[in-house]
Amino acid sequence: MVQRSQPPQAEQKKIKAKNGRRDFLWKAASGLTAAALVTHGCGSSSPNSHANEGPAVHTSPKVMWRLASSFPRALDTIYGVSDTLAKRVSELTNGQFTIRPYPQGELVPAMEVLDAVQQGTVQMGHTASYYYKGKNPVLAFDCAVPFGLTARQQNAWLVEGGGLELMRDVFADFNIVNYPGGNTGMQMGGWFRRELNNVADINGLKMRIPGLGGEVMSRMGATVQVLAGGDIFPALERGAIDATEWVGPYDDEKLGFYKVAKYYYYPGWWEPGPSLSFMVNQNALAKLPAHYRAVLEVAMAEANHEMLINYDAKNPPALRRLLEAGAELRPFAEDIMNLARKTSVDLMEELAGKDAVYRKVYDQWSAFRNDSYRWFNTAENEYAAYTRKM
Ligand code: CA
Repeated sequence: MVQRSQPPQAEQKKIKAKNGRRDFLWKAASGLTAAALVTHGCGSSSPNSHANEGPAVHTSPKVMWRLASSFPRALDTIYGVSDTLAKRVSELTNGQFTIRPYPQGELVPAMEVLDAVQQGTVQMGHTASYYYKGKNPVLAFDCAVPFGLTARQQNAWLVEGGGLELMRDVFADFNIVNYPGGNTGMQMGGWFRRELNNVADINGLKMRIPGLGGEVMSRMGATVQVLAGGDIFPALERGAIDATEWVGPYDDEKLGFYKVAKYYYYPGWWEPGPSLSFMVNQNALAKLPAHYRAVLEVAMAEANHEMLINYDAKNPPALRRLLEAGAELRPFAEDIMNLARKTSVDLMEELAGKDAVYRKVYDQWSAFRNDSYRWFNTAENEYAAYTRKM
């Protein structure tokens, strides 16, 4: 233990000045009940405990929300951000604003979270926007499109690059305000029972791969299936499918694919940095006191940040374990990558040709992507390539 000595005089003056400033801030803030609650409401059991310091805080309404997640609890990295959000919102409002998360299927099926938020069955959801491309293909930009942005580029596009404004115009049609809700980082190409040497090997390949990536694979000759997480392993084991994609080492390891399909391909060009989304019902958001909304937004930003950190910490040791268990890494052959890219661009051009909003988002996004690639390829990726020799 360090014996705490009396602070020197200068230090005491500083502390007094600081306390004086705090009193001043408190008095100023208590006139604005919203700000007062955030700065002083936390940690005190009752607003009346501040009675000697200034007027009591009047408004700390009890607000209880429900959140429908598209993900099972077992995916701790993805589902976990909903728990983080709920915990932080409650802590920052002294337990007055609570959000109860429900995993996939408990309130609504995984692919119907957007609908539940739109209808107000729940106040908010945590899901992947590209699940809803059937409603409007442009929604995929909020999450990931083939040969699109990496996690850092996607976050930059959404938050600073005009992406959120563009996407919110689209989400307004669904009575929803969307926020970034975490990112898995670059995904893997998945598990294959046999090697893929060139584009000819894709012909007739039975692969589980959803979304636009699935559409591209299908145009390249694969027979595409969409199976829920729990159904993939048995299908792969008995050979009903030849290959499956999922996420990356940490999540893939849990589903055990390496036991029945040893070739682990990369990169997952259809999902270079998929961004999950928090979707909030517009009316519910409008009814929130301003300080609760600020708390919600701060907690969502923290949750968004947390997911990528989690993956970046958990994927490396998981990859080591998978290699120790016999997985064999394989890069996709260059002709496969080139054909996949051409097929993806053709598909997106087709979609842009059919819809003015898609065109507008696609063009703005493409310009951002081109600048981003130039910048990242200048220093970041050059360094990354050099680290292979280290
Ligand atoms: Ca995936």
